[in-house]
Amino acid sequence: MRINKYIANAGICSRRKADELIANGNVKINGIIVEELGRNVAQGDVVEVNGRIIDHTHKNVYVAVNKPKGYITSMDDNKDRQTVADLVMDIPERLFPVGRLDYNTTGLLIMTNDGQMTYTLTHPKHEVYKTYVAKVAGVISDARISRLRRGVDIGGFVTSPAKVKVIKQMPRYALVEIKIREGKNRQVRKMFAAVGNKVQELQRTEIGQIKLGRLMEGHYRKLTNDEIKYLK
Ligand code: URA
Repeated sequence: MRINKYIANAGICSRRKADELIANGNVKINGIIVEELGRNVAQGDVVEVNGRIIDHTHKNVYVAVNKPKGYITSMDDNKDRQTVADLVMDIPERLFPVGRLDYNTTGLLIMTNDGQMTYTLTHPKHEVYKTYVAKVAGVISDARISRLRRGVDIGGFVTSPAKVKVIKQMPRYALVEIKIREGKNRQVRKMFAAVGNKVQELQRTEIGQIKLGRLMEGHYRKLTNDEIKYLK
């Protein structure tokens, strides 16, 4: 296996980042600095990254988490708030969130120690639709829905076409399903704000074919082999 893949599979970082580490002389095989990016790792080789031996018995773990409100999507917080790491505390592997959900957004978050997947899924080229259900204040007109579908300016950035469907219109609020491919900071909230509807609640229900389903808030489940294959 190529050295960059070996490092990524061990959950250290993406393959591209691994190449950078190699180029910077931070990777050793059997105690010797690797000088060639395409170098292969053979059975029994001891690989070190930044002086730490990589455990080749390492197992990749993939979970879907239902993030509650009031958790930050990060592994630690300097303000001592709850983080999504608290939700997977009983998993011995150190998992990282793939992408972000705002502090007050609930729903589907994938967490893994597979550095390559984190990289692939958060790369703008990756064309997976993320589905959100937003509770927005007021009435959402057809004209506003059309604007959201076409793309709106969210402050120097015009969003790509989105799929938008009104689930329910009540006198004071609406439930709207929106599917987007990009993942700009607070994008869904900003898109609705751009057409004049404030988001009161936001939940992510799907990432591509991965569905939140009936997973309870604050709980996680392991992804199935088919789901993992689909994401890779
Ligand atoms: N869009 C938002 O506004 N917030 C999120 O957490 C995710 C997408």
